[in-house]
Amino acid sequence: MAKKRTRRASPIPPAPSPGHVRRDGAPKNRYPTQQEAADAAHLRWVLDRVELDVYRCDVCDGWHMGKRFRDP
Ligand SMILES: [Zn+2]
Repeated sequence: MAKKRTRRASPIPPAPSPGHVRRDGAPKNRYPTQQEAADAAHLRWVLDRVELDVYRCDVCDGWHMGKRFRDP
């Protein structure tokens, strides 16, 4: 007797928030405070001349830095 497969509604994983993960899908560095994120962003500017914004993340309740995401 063949096993009856119960068809489970496959949960669609929620789309990762664009502000929480990098383009390659890896989670961004999280900073607990805006100040720490700003310090890290400043360091990137000093070292690499990369200008980054810091913003609060709704996903992990921390702060991230990154270029402003304008992708549709
Ligand atoms: Zn986050």
